[in-house]
Amino acid sequence: ERTDFIHFFHQVIDRFEMNVSDQITLQRELPNEKLYVWIDQDKMNQVLDNVISNAIKYSSEGGTIRFKAEKQKGQLLVSVSDEGPGIPYDKVDKVFDRFYRADNARSRKLGGTGLGLAIAKEIVESHHGSIWAKSKEGKGTTVLFTLPLVNKKRRGK
Ligand code: ATP
Ligand code: MG
Repeated sequence: ERTDFIHFFHQVIDRFEMNVSDQITLQRELPNEKLYVWIDQDKMNQVLDNVISNAIKYSSEGGTIRFKAEKQKGQLLVSVSDEGPGIPYDKVDKVFDRFYRADNARSRKLGGTGLGLAIAKEIVESHHGSIWAKSKEGKGTTVLFTLPLVNKKRRGK
């Protein structure tokens, strides 16, 4: 359904805020305007759950997770950034592959199936958006995705 993504994003982050350790700071950089997208809310919840869970899972104590959403080139650009260990340069595109998990002690210890981001990619693309990641080893990771914006009000004739 037609959804103000900013309001929706706040609600999703609120849910995490209630459960996350107080060693991790959640920082919102969201505009005060409404930005409308056409989404399946359950599916978009799954996307954000996966991306935010990763950011939390791979964050170290004292880390900050930043949430952004902005209008860019007529689209909505959403991003979630963490200050975790990052992903090696040559692996950063592979994380969207099914069952891909970085082969390191940390990933093994933390567990998971390696499906989260593959599912997120499928859902974002089914909404006519794209998803990608930027990362610097030792600095952190940002996962970004776009969604087409829809008009605030459709004028009837
Ligand atoms: P699942 O989501 O199915 O529980 P998972 O988290 O391992 O398992 P994905 O969410 O698809 O799977 O992520 C794939 C891999 O990408 C992870 O195993 C991890 O190696 C790497 N990765 C994903 N997000 C981050 C992040 N924020 N920081 C560092 N590495 C990440
Ligand atoms: Mg995951």
